[in-house]
Amino acid sequence: MLLLARTTRLEKVSSPTEGLSLFYTDLNRDFVDVREIKKMGRKAVDSNEVFIDGLPIPAEDLIGEEGKGFGQTLLGLNPERILVAGECIGIARNALVRAAHYASERVIFDRPIGQNQGVQHPLAWAWARLESANFMVTHAAALYDAGELCGVEAKAAKLLAAAAAVEATEVAQITFGGFGYAKEYYVERLVREALLFRIVPVTPQMRLLFIPEKALGFPRPY
Ligand SMILES: Cc1cc2nc3c(=O)[nH]c(=O)nc-3n(C[C@H](O)[C@H](O)[C@H](O)COP(=O)(O)OP(=O)(O)OC[C@H]3O[C@@H](n4cnc5c(N)ncnc54)[C@H](O)[C@@H]3O)c2cc1C
Repeated sequence: MLLLARTTRLEKVSSPTEGLSLFYTDLNRDFVDVREIKKMGRKAVDSNEVFIDGLPIPAEDLIGEEGKGFGQTLLGLNPERILVAGECIGIARNALVRAAHYASERVIFDRPIGQNQGVQHPLAWAWARLESANFMVTHAAALYDAGELCGVEAKAAKLLAAAAAVEATEVAQITFGGFGYAKEYYVERLVREALLFRIVPVTPQMRLLFIPEKALGFPRPY
């Protein structure tokens, strides 16, 4: 397991983020208690409460520099945001394709429901917002690939893509009517998976703590 652990006591460092070290070490269950958390989605990957007590770690399991582990983990945050934003785009596109297909096939009173603009317009709005979000995702990814600063863009990409995914999956579910609630039509799973990305890796409220400061020059609110 990848583990960030305090290796210098808090009272001996000037900032709480100092004195933490990163290790890649064996998950020895003699010292680690892992308890699965049951969730509403993302069941392909389990999430756990992890209790570590007295785990011995060989010095060679250290990654990078002792005491600098927190800074090392930060290097992974922007790519994680961009990756998650990309996941949102994929989930939402899948939902819209399924909805459009269903709306073309489901016939009520001799015409497909997709012929009604009341069905088309919410899907069109969702598509437009989703594809706009995708421009920010690819922009952030291009900056990251070029080795440039991309913190604000990566955060904005995740914020926009998650919001667009929640909208698109919800609209798609409604398009299926009652079947949108049935497991058989799969769209309910896309709703559940999209909802997760409103919360992780960071909630919109937390995202919006950072963007005003970095993009617009507001004083730091925390
Ligand atoms: C399925 C799943 C997988 C996860 N995987 C990982 C993982 O791999 N690695 C990892 O590190 N974490 C992981 N997480 C944790 C996730 O990153 C956190 O749950 C998320 O960042 C929210 O933090 P919190 O749960 O501590 O909420 P809290 O910090 O307790 O916040 C609760 C609510 O209060 C709001 N809030 C808090 N402070 C403020 C403020 N100052 N102003 C306005 N609103 C505020 C928050 O936005 C939120 O709505 C995972 C979570 C889930 C559900």
